Amino acid sequence: MAAGPRRIAIAGSTGSIGTQALDVVRTSPSGLEVVALGAFSSVDLLVDQAREFRPPVVALADSSRAAELRERVPEGTEVRAGPEALASLAETGAETVLNAVVGFAGLGVTIRTLELGKRLALANKESLIAGAPVVQRARRTPGAEILPVDSEHCAIHQCLRAAGSAASVRRIVLTASGGPFRGRKAEDLREVTISEALAHPTWSMGPKITIDSSTLMNKGLEVLEANELFGVGIDSIEVVVHPQSIVHSMVEFSDGATIAQLSHPDMRLPISYCLMYPDRGEHPYGAMDWAAVSSLEFEPPDLHTFGCLPLAFEAARVGGAAPAWLNAANEVAVAAFLAGGIGWSQIADVVAEALAVFEPVELRSIEDVLEADARARVVAEEALTRLS
Ligand code: NAD
Ligand code: MG
Repeated sequence: MAAGPRRIAIAGSTGSIGTQALDVVRTSPSGLEVVALGAFSSVDLLVDQAREFRPPVVALADSSRAAELRERVPEGTEVRAGPEALASLAETGAETVLNAVVGFAGLGVTIRTLELGKRLALANKESLIAGAPVVQRARRTPGAEILPVDSEHCAIHQCLRAAGSAASVRRIVLTASGGPFRGRKAEDLREVTISEALAHPTWSMGPKITIDSSTLMNKGLEVLEANELFGVGIDSIEVVVHPQSIVHSMVEFSDGATIAQLSHPDMRLPISYCLMYPDRGEHPYGAMDWAAVSSLEFEPPDLHTFGCLPLAFEAARVGGAAPAWLNAANEVAVAAFLAGGIGWSQIADVVAEALAVFEPVELRSIEDVLEADARARVVAEEALTRLS
């Protein structure tokens, strides 16, 4: 029974998730009000968004372009700039903050939103994975809540809700499209190009997550994400490849019954679910034409060819700062691949080498998390030098 529109802030409004979230706002103008927007450095798009949605606050992480932004936004708009600017979007009239930043850089938005006792619509899985112990503590702040935007986790959230609170979960089954290289073998993937790895069969997303999808590291990160979000234990999480991307994930209960969430692959559905929760959005983004669906296929993942997936399970079992190491090494390796510095198969090699020299540390504060991330990046850079 929300009185008036729900007030939202979007960190990372210029990216794939951010722009799709604004699409959701366009289709529910009376339901959602944008009170703050922020991006890294895309001033042109941010200015267009500020003119269209008229948020009282806009933020830019890259302060070198702040003057230009100030000059071009509508009069009266407050402009915040610098490394803390996006996290400060939680300190506005927003009830829900959508974290649509890519990578570890989203940590500040996640922590600040939760510590302020607000609802976090979380697309930025990397912050939850790398900062897990600190994020979990912030999540216990009264009023704080995480709603997962990631389609698989949003599906699981819906399955658990449908089952009711007393249901006993036996396992969570995460579905994976398999990415552009499904069915191919390790030997045959050594020479793939950047553009082949960027050609995802079912989802159109930012470049980092698209590469993660090609290596199945995205699914590995999602295993870690599910482990943190739902607390069922790593041995109760499984991955199955489902090339049609219609079953977004499933939960199996103690009596063997499985509840799944199905819809057309469109991120605007999980985004609208998180922004409108506990109500449902009115626009049918995910509606299916069942006559056009000839089959739903499922197969086990190829753990030999897609070595990143078993590495993520390994990091989950080690726990502590190991997921932060895995995440940092992966970010370094993916950036190197996108810059043409290493081959596709070497992404998993860099992550494996970094994990092999993992230095256990306890993550008690945000500083500990930043330090573990920085140390893992140094180790991953060393692995890169050896491999390239
Ligand atoms: P993207 O690259 O399209 O957009 C990233 C956004 O973050 C941009 O607005 C950019 O300005 C901002 N940004 C980039 N670097 C930053 C930095 N250093 N500091 C602050 N802001 C920065 O990425 P995306 O595909 O929208 O993905 C965003 C997040 O959502 C990722 O964590 C991704 O894993 C997750 N996700 C995306 C999809 C999808 O369909 N795109 C699906 C599920 C989960
Ligand atoms: Mg996903």
